[in-house]
Amino acid sequence: MREWSDETRAMLRGYDLPTLWRDPSVIYALTPDLRLAFHSESWVRFHEANGGGPGFDTRWGPGCRALDAIQGPLRSHFERVFRLVIHSGEVWQHTYECSSAAVFRQFHLRILPLPEQRGLLLVNSLIVERAHSDAERAPHSAVDTHYIDAHGIAHQCSHCRRMRRVDLPEDRWDWVPDWVTAPPPRTSHGLCEVCLLHHYPPFESN
Ligand SMILES: [Zn+2]
Repeated sequence: MREWSDETRAMLRGYDLPTLWRDPSVIYALTPDLRLAFHSESWVRFHEANGGGPGFDTRWGPGCRALDAIQGPLRSHFERVFRLVIHSGEVWQHTYECSSAAVFRQFHLRILPLPEQRGLLLVNSLIVERAHSDAERAPHSAVDTHYIDAHGIAHQCSHCRRMRRVDLPEDRWDWVPDWVTAPPPRTSHGLCEVCLLHHYPPFESN
């Protein structure tokens, strides 16, 4: 059984924390200034199994800034989403990809506003898990001359994790399994055209 601070209990009052802790969904809660206040056991297991390594929760514990864990253009996107949900009090939902080199995975994310602008509860539920299909995402070899630009930088989509070709005139993004597991040391994160249009359309200006 975990122990939680009085601040966390007050922020999540109305929720049974041991039940949230054991929930199979990957659950965490953020304070109004977007710091981690609570996470479920499955949150630890998920991150340890997906590149976080052992003891992930001792390095990413309560008080960590959630935005520091988000790379590239998704960081400013989620900062706006988090603040919008806190201030509007409306639930925000989103489907996103979180694949490994071998497994295609999609999650459904619900961002729930806590009453009285006390923060956010984020619930990530696995909705698709299967082997990659070569027909829809053919694997490519990690060839430096195809993907590393004149400045020594590779470009990876933050969402689908495909790599941008730099040796072709057209805009093309390839699935390079070796670099899903371990991207080149100098990798810049952006969004490919498909992910930008389908998963991260621009906010309305109102
Ligand atoms: Zn993409």
